[in-house]
Amino acid sequence: MLLVALSALPVLGVAINNGLQQRAADEATEKQQLQLIASLTARRPEQMIAGASQLLYAITADVNDLLRTRKDCTNQFRKVMAQVQGQYRTMGLALPSGEIYCDATTAPDDLSINVGDRDYFRMAQTTGKFAVGGYQIGRATGLPAFNMAYPVIDDHGKVVAVAYAALNLGTFEEQTERRQREQAGSAGRVVTFVDYKGVVLAQFPQFRARIGEKVPNPRVLEKVIGQKNGVFTETDLAGETRIYAFDSAGINPDGKPVVHVVISTPAKHIYADADRVLRNTVIAIAAVTVLLFLLVWYGTEMFVTRRFRVLLEMTERVRSGDFSARTGFGEGREELTQLGVAFDEMAHELQNRDRQLQDALERMRSQAITDELTGLFNRRHLWNVLEAELSRGRRKSSPIAVLLFDIDHFKKLNDQWGHEAGDIVLQSLAQVVRRVVRGTDIVARHGGEEFVVVMPEAGEDVALLRARQLRSRVAEMSLSYRGNPLDSITISIGIAISADSSQSGDSLVREADSAMYEAKARGRDQVVVHRMPGAS
Ligand code: GH3
Ligand code: MG
Ligand code: MG
Repeated sequence: MLLVALSALPVLGVAINNGLQQRAADEATEKQQLQLIASLTARRPEQMIAGASQLLYAITADVNDLLRTRKDCTNQFRKVMAQVQGQYRTMGLALPSGEIYCDATTAPDDLSINVGDRDYFRMAQTTGKFAVGGYQIGRATGLPAFNMAYPVIDDHGKVVAVAYAALNLGTFEEQTERRQREQAGSAGRVVTFVDYKGVVLAQFPQFRARIGEKVPNPRVLEKVIGQKNGVFTETDLAGETRIYAFDSAGINPDGKPVVHVVISTPAKHIYADADRVLRNTVIAIAAVTVLLFLLVWYGTEMFVTRRFRVLLEMTERVRSGDFSARTGFGEGREELTQLGVAFDEMAHELQNRDRQLQDALERMRSQAITDELTGLFNRRHLWNVLEAELSRGRRKSSPIAVLLFDIDHFKKLNDQWGHEAGDIVLQSLAQVVRRVVRGTDIVARHGGEEFVVVMPEAGEDVALLRARQLRSRVAEMSLSYRGNPLDSITISIGIAISADSSQSGDSLVREADSAMYEAKARGRDQVVVHRMPGAS
């Protein structure tokens, strides 16, 4: 998982780097384009200024005619104003003193205006050259305008009058190509015309500036004023980053540009394309990474983790002794499968060994408690069982009977037919005894040709009945050895009974033994119940 995440990092790095380069490239392109638009836009005011200069030059060609009467002068300017419709607020002629001689918008009799203090007038008068001023409210019209002055010079080089024209500020916007104006709005672009002092002459679309006031952003103002053109990035008053390009139009006699055209556009517009591409790329990388994560997780889960879990689980089962545990990984060359196969083989082998061990143990266990010749319980087991039955009987206060019997004159049979015949007789006898007693009774070979039957919950009646049955069945046995019929055998049986199982096993067997000897003494082939001495 970590590796997948790490492998996504370089791709992410390249994508981000590409994004940043694209941003830089887009920014450079946008700056170039903005600069071009700024210089194109600046051409119109350039033409307007040049146009005004030519117009004033033409009007003042015959300045003496104009200076003849104020009325004629006024009419002359009015005629020109009518021809250039709306472009100018007014125009007229001022005397070297600054006193207005005639003005197109004012009746000649009312004139008492002096423009001697106006920047355009003073520059034109002192330099004798065409000069342009800044934003102002016209004294004759009371309207905002942008004034230009043309000095009339006589043969002696003396300024005799100054012709002026007040440009209508709306002309800046009107004269800018409509296509450019529309484009400006749609791209978030703002076009601002500024005079030489930094006062806004026009702006479209209307953004933050106010006509007649200085450019509100001092950082922008500082970079634009006095410069011919340039491009820079700056945060605007709202904290938004914008790219600014500017150019200028016209040159005053003092060498300074007359109008500055500033075009700005929000930086986020420029980066939008690059950012969108970067965002899509990052999303794609993230999606691919997530997909890879899922694949790796699924693959690991399917082919590794799940198998490890099975292996662990099976190991745990084997550890706890369950050798039937198998991974079941089946055929396969890959390491984990081989491990599973090896594990299964190991478990199989362990299971076999365990089975053999269990069998051997079982054999040993039964051998430990069985008499080899007869298959009955041996003497040792008899004592264990007897004690267990006694304590059980004690809990329930139930009786218990012990029968002890011995073959009569067995020595004789052995002497006559041999030990082997004797063994066969013992085996046959064991089978008969087993058939006579109940399943819950215990039959054991006590030693030699002596046997003991423990009968839990049997009182004297039952014990006697069973003993008699036993005696008669034994007597009925037909025996043969190597084809030769053997004489039937008899047994002497002694019975001892404990009515509530309170006696010890040892004393019960001893009593049964002495009862058996009593039976032998009385002539064999009979049953004797042990009585306490003194009892009848
Ligand atoms: P009685 O009990 O009636 O007094 O006479 P008996 O001949 O049976 O005398 P006793 O009990 O003293 O003799 C036991 C004989 O049983 C001795 C031995 O020859 C024989 N015997 C004991 N154990 C075995 C055995 O495992 N196999 C064979 N074949 N004979 C055995
Ligand atoms: Mg005997
Ligand atoms: Mg004996």
